[in-house]
Amino acid sequence: MKYISDELIKIKESGLYRDLRVVGNAQDTHIEIEGRPFLSFCSNNYLGLANHPSVVKAVKDAVGKYGWGAGASRLVSGNMTLHEVLEDAISRFKEKEAAIVFPTGYMANLGAITSLVSNGDLVICDKLNHASIIDGCRLSGADFRVYAHCNMEKLENILKKASKYNRKLIVTDSVFSMDGDLAPLPDIVRIAGKYNALIMVDEAHGTGVFGKNGRGVVEHFNLNKEIDVIMGTLSKAIGSLGGYVSGDIDLISYLRNKARSFMYTTALPPAVCAASIAGINLIQEDHSMRESLWYNVRFIKDKLRSLNINMISSESQIIPILIGGAQKAVEISKLLYERGILIPAIRPPTVPANSSRLRMTVMSSHTQGDLERLIGALSEVLDF
Ligand SMILES: *Cc1c(COP(=O)(O)O)cnc(C)c1O
Repeated sequence: MKYISDELIKIKESGLYRDLRVVGNAQDTHIEIEGRPFLSFCSNNYLGLANHPSVVKAVKDAVGKYGWGAGASRLVSGNMTLHEVLEDAISRFKEKEAAIVFPTGYMANLGAITSLVSNGDLVICDKLNHASIIDGCRLSGADFRVYAHCNMEKLENILKKASKYNRKLIVTDSVFSMDGDLAPLPDIVRIAGKYNALIMVDEAHGTGVFGKNGRGVVEHFNLNKEIDVIMGTLSKAIGSLGGYVSGDIDLISYLRNKARSFMYTTALPPAVCAASIAGINLIQEDHSMRESLWYNVRFIKDKLRSLNINMISSESQIIPILIGGAQKAVEISKLLYERGILIPAIRPPTVPANSSRLRMTVMSSHTQGDLERLIGALSEVLDF
């Protein structure tokens, strides 16, 4: 076991050690850690649905009717009414023919990518795609190529030399989780069409936030028909747990028969599906949550811009502040922590070396007072 303690020492010495914090109350803008109150700017619960009264009520009702656990895989006896209702709700929300739900977004990416490509195929990724996409690509056995972040020339160069491949799959985040910028989906669609490649878009951070009806970045660019495989998670803006893929009926039937992270795992508890259904309904009914979120995002960005703070290329509710060195990022995050504000330092290997950053995420339920407190604290701890 010596190599384990040696490795731990190395991780600590390079400023990359990760600690767990314990939150003692419900997920909200204000949370409690070890009895101390904090203002959080690091939750993916963008619309406050993780603790919304309608969501909580839907869960209680579902537990009353269906109990808790699902008891088996979807393909054995774990497929319950609410799994079907949820998949139906997702396919309508995403305006696709069908949808399949996995226990997490991570598992949705693993299951979908490994089913869509294998030995002899080609899978192509943006350099900054989420770890679950990268893991799916590696596990698939397909040849795996990466293009520089959002660089369409590089993407096309890869495809130009890919005529020997039968199946070609391009996978991209829609909102990049560490930089907060958007994939150039219209360009990807144009290039994919030229080389007959399939496109899969991960809407983890886009769903509930982008598009006129909150369907995601695909809706924002009006590309619903052009994107073959729309993946996303139920655990961010939707406030629950689970991952999904939506697409045409054949695609979804195929994944039900092929995706190992769907077949060989227990179905989500039905009450978890009830929470997701309630969340999706709220997003469709109440556009004011999304409007408040965008008001907050614009307010923060205007202030940071006037302070000349480098927000990398953020176009979304994910706002990074570029710091550089890992140690310095940790130090600044700690100064904020001492002021009761929670913004994590993101370090390698999550981001490239020397691009350590503070990563803020904004919620619809942050108040004007919360925003002003944030700006005040940031202007104290950042040296310009
Ligand atoms: C969070 C995230 C996932 C994983 O979703 P989970 O439901 O948390 O497993 C996948 N892709 C992206 C881009 C994400 O940000």
